[in-house]
Amino acid sequence: MISVIGANKNFGDFAALDNLSLDIPSGSLTALLGPSGSGKSTLLRSIAGLENPDSGTITIAGKDVTGVPPQKRDIGFVFQHYAAFKHMTVRDNVAFGLKIRKRPKNEITKKVNDLLEIVGLDGFQHRYPAQLSGGQRQRMALARALAVDPQVLLLDEPFGALDAKVREDLRTWLRRLHDEVHVTTVLVTHDQAEALDVADRIAVLNKGRIEQVGTPRDLYDRPANNFVMSFLGPVA
Ligand code: ATP
Ligand code: MG
Repeated sequence: MISVIGANKNFGDFAALDNLSLDIPSGSLTALLGPSGSGKSTLLRSIAGLENPDSGTITIAGKDVTGVPPQKRDIGFVFQHYAAFKHMTVRDNVAFGLKIRKRPKNEITKKVNDLLEIVGLDGFQHRYPAQLSGGQRQRMALARALAVDPQVLLLDEPFGALDAKVREDLRTWLRRLHDEVHVTTVLVTHDQAEALDVADRIAVLNKGRIEQVGTPRDLYDRPANNFVMSFLGPVA
């Protein structure tokens, strides 16, 4: 489980996280949903260790990660404009984290083959990122994030720049992947339909606070307040 307890983050006198607490159960696919500027990325970056809250505590699997750098948090992350290594093939991009961990060659080969199959990129291993579509690049990024068996996968609008059809395909695919691999996944999105479709839990953010947490069904059937109702409203 990931627990965020009373996190505050100020930029100047603006509270990006306002005494925010949230539990993210192990193995869940939790969406952080909220309007632009509500603090979703700040929360995700705080879980990743790319940002440090001014106060509050974050624990991952019971361990306080305050001050622990991102590479020691056992997480994988994928952002909207993912920076792949352009000079490396798909295979080498996915193998990167395993190589720097000095895993044995045969283990790396097997792992990379398995992952490329899971993300539907077997047959693309010798291509370069520039020779992939946007959706394929994002799937490569996910394979790369998963290569080191992270406890937690953090995704910040990973499909944001793609067209509607590709987004929908990737969404379905992410759901299937999650059912297979069960890694605790936190997906940031401002797209209500995406959250309702893919997540098993949704946390609705507004102004650095959590308005409601629940299953898509809970939020849809019993919105806690007008904000949640109006935010989920347009897809009704
Ligand atoms: P979006 O959907 O647009 O990505 P978000 O919910 O991810 O929005 P955040 O990026 O977490 O929002 O930002 C929350 C608030 O904190 C915003 O008002 C933003 O301007 C502010 N903020 C975020 N990072 C910084 C920073 N490094 N310096 C100053 N203000 C920041
Ligand atoms: Mg953001």
